[in-house]
Amino acid sequence: MTAEPASVPEPASVPEPASVPEPASVPEPVEGSYDASTSSATDAPDPSQYVRERHNDGTRDVRWPAAPEPLAVPVYDNHAHLEIVDGDEPLTLDEQLDRAAAVGVIGVVQAGGDVDSSRWSAWAAASHPRVLAAVAIHPNEAPAYEAAGELDAAIAVIDELAAQPRVRAIGETGLDFFRTEEDGFAAQFRAFEAHIELAKKHGIAMQIHDRDAHDAVLETLQRVGAPDRTVFHCFSGDAAMARITAVHGYYLSFAGNLTFKNAQNLRDALAVTPRERILVETDAPFLTPIPHRGRPNAPYLVPLTVRFMAAELDVEIDELCAQLAANTVEAYGAF
Ligand SMILES: [Zn+2]
Repeated sequence: MTAEPASVPEPASVPEPASVPEPASVPEPVEGSYDASTSSATDAPDPSQYVRERHNDGTRDVRWPAAPEPLAVPVYDNHAHLEIVDGDEPLTLDEQLDRAAAVGVIGVVQAGGDVDSSRWSAWAAASHPRVLAAVAIHPNEAPAYEAAGELDAAIAVIDELAAQPRVRAIGETGLDFFRTEEDGFAAQFRAFEAHIELAKKHGIAMQIHDRDAHDAVLETLQRVGAPDRTVFHCFSGDAAMARITAVHGYYLSFAGNLTFKNAQNLRDALAVTPRERILVETDAPFLTPIPHRGRPNAPYLVPLTVRFMAAELDVEIDELCAQLAANTVEAYGAF
């Protein structure tokens, strides 16, 4: 549920936001919009029919980048939104997975952010052996559900979905003090705390969305008690924060913005993160790594970020890939 509008110029000195949901620019789902009458997972519309389209204002380069050189040792994309259609040529889920596998990206953790996208994620994982699902109400969605009196019903759907065997994480959940106004913070905290409890109840991992809320996220995890496998999706902190997360054994998942010129904080964080706690993700279709920044992102572009990471860490690429794959399986279980 992160919508980085490619058309928004980046401030010169501020690191690229980890993930920038832009509700105004993302069209409403064409199918299966959430409403209170479908708060049970059983009477939901067919989740396979759900689709969202990424907003295109006509200025963005929507051509799919060329496939990078394949990785010799396979890895996984730890966080993507494959229900969001992007690119000059729409790709089906199977085409996405085939393109990824062709370059050594053999699985994807598909993340939800509301009831409908979470249902889609669970469906995708149940029907595709190369997909595992994360399900949650995103911190920027929680206030709207709360305002409609539907937050508890929505969290109950997440609870139901989390019982499915291929739903291996609660996510993305967390706190976002950038996109949500202060009057929505209470709903964010309530949702985040409920999601932490769900991850622990189901014994699965948790994927955190943290935007401009580092201290509050860390404090909440300490206060409520973090799940055994806690992942900072699209990590957006710095080396000091990475040292803190290392103490707690949290995973840091790095996205394509690791490669952005102004993201030195992320490279500094990567350098101090224990190797067994590093993950890689796309957050597709957003945060496309250089040299294709601004164009559509997809799991088949993971090798660009992994090669960049290997160079940063001065580690042999095959060794890094083996480590990343092992970390993924450690966090989410086998595909
Ligand atoms: Zn995301």
